[in-house]
Amino acid sequence: MTQLQATKIEELKNSFRGEILLPGSDAYESARKIWNAMIDRHPALIARCATTSDVVHAVNFARDNGLVLAVRGGGHNIAGNAMCDDGIVIDLSQMKAANVDPNTRRVTIEGGATLADLDAATQAHGLATPVGINSTTGVAGLTLGGGFGWLSRKYGMTIDNLESAEVVTAAGEVLHASATQHPDLFWALRGGSGNFGVVTRFEFRLHPVGPDVLSGLIVYPISEAKSVLQRYRDFLAKAPDDLSVWTLLRQAPPLPFLPKEVHGKGIVALALLYVGDPKQGEPLIEPLRKFGTPAGEHVGVQPYTAWQKAFDPLLTAGARNYWKSHNLSTLKDGLFDVVIDYVGKLPSPQCEIFFGALGGATTRPTPDSAAYAHRDARFVMNVHCRWENSADDERCIRWARDFFKASAPFASGGVYVNFLTADEGDRVRSAYGPNYDRLAQVKRRYDPDNLFHMNQNITPT
Ligand SMILES: Cc1cc2nc3c(=O)[nH]c(=O)nc-3n(C[C@H](O)[C@H](O)[C@H](O)COP(=O)(O)OP(=O)(O)OC[C@H]3O[C@@H](n4cnc5c(N)ncnc54)[C@H](O)[C@@H]3O)c2cc1C
Repeated sequence: MTQLQATKIEELKNSFRGEILLPGSDAYESARKIWNAMIDRHPALIARCATTSDVVHAVNFARDNGLVLAVRGGGHNIAGNAMCDDGIVIDLSQMKAANVDPNTRRVTIEGGATLADLDAATQAHGLATPVGINSTTGVAGLTLGGGFGWLSRKYGMTIDNLESAEVVTAAGEVLHASATQHPDLFWALRGGSGNFGVVTRFEFRLHPVGPDVLSGLIVYPISEAKSVLQRYRDFLAKAPDDLSVWTLLRQAPPLPFLPKEVHGKGIVALALLYVGDPKQGEPLIEPLRKFGTPAGEHVGVQPYTAWQKAFDPLLTAGARNYWKSHNLSTLKDGLFDVVIDYVGKLPSPQCEIFFGALGGATTRPTPDSAAYAHRDARFVMNVHCRWENSADDERCIRWARDFFKASAPFASGGVYVNFLTADEGDRVRSAYGPNYDRLAQVKRRYDPDNLFHMNQNITPT
């Protein structure tokens, strides 16, 4: 920071309702940590905003002083774009207020909320909108990349339920984007990542869900993985949209419903949620128990909010993480062979490969209806490599990259922008697909100087 900037920081503080965190304080140290411990960056200042007006001041400060600008929603993104070195971070973590209107079935929620905040507010009224499967993820980053989870086959991607957004642009203007106001911006926000401004408030449509839902896990030994995966593929092709089933291959954690001798051994787990009346779901899930000889199961009727947190203990912040991901339009037998081979040589007990099931309502909008283009994706396969010590970085990253290469022949070519790592700049066009050029034009209109570039970046044309 130059003396000029130091003086300006004082000016910023005077106009700011939230907190300005500077190096040297405990609050700064804790605020610069994000979910992926591989990211260790030191911004010059963290502007922890309390209001939209704070965000406007911080954006203007970054632009006028030529500072690198990062925006932190939930801080979960694997690429670490929520944090920068030397510049300014707009930290939205204190802006989480939610307001539900049960009559119109709408929620408005601020840009720093987590999925847990959103689910808690909406489930108080027996309502929900589709979001991801780990409750500590940020609503903002998830939504801006597309967003999918247990409810998506029934109710679509998160963006398919976005009604409007309040956005602070690079010029420091506060815009309301919707189908009728700034429709080009609204189109770009639905999948174009954080490229177009800081979203300070989202408005979503809601649906009746739960509050209790049929959900849980059915676990098979890895020795049965190939036939379980084949049956899973055939089952899901005919399953109703109300039922979502994902598969997860990893070493068994010490879950109480699994026999001790299974702990630490390879497993393939079916994770399921039925959106409707649990009684109607029961017979539908029965075939999942007959894919082989299960090592254990934990399926029942439980609060939707509990199932939304079921994977949190496996996905806590602070571990080292590296991901690789492919979109898939079909699941081929050859892919199963590759997956099983690589699960046989997992480089750490916390690594996993999963198939997130899309299909249903996610495939019905046309690819150009929103910036998110991959309506052909039936599955998103993510290689989630996770470990504790930096000494294991190279080994773990190599395993993920090798698997990614070996599985590439079975992939559709598209990729989910929210699963891209920092070293995948060459895949950004694949992430935005055929919508890239239109996104670049919208970028030129709202952010011609690329102030918002700490993201999977779209360069203004
Ligand atoms: C454990 C785990 C599980 C996941 N599961 C799912 C899942 O089930 N489904 C799914 O769809 N995704 C899932 N994801 C991916 C997730 O959607 C992305 O990591 C997403 O980017 C996280 O959003 P965030 O706000 O927490 O991230 P951040 O790291 O804070 O931000 C991500 C990007 O968005 C930008 N950004 C953040 N907030 C704003 C804002 N308010 N305005 C403008 N730009 C902003 C940031 O600058 C950054 O570029 C998962 C991620 C993790 C780590």
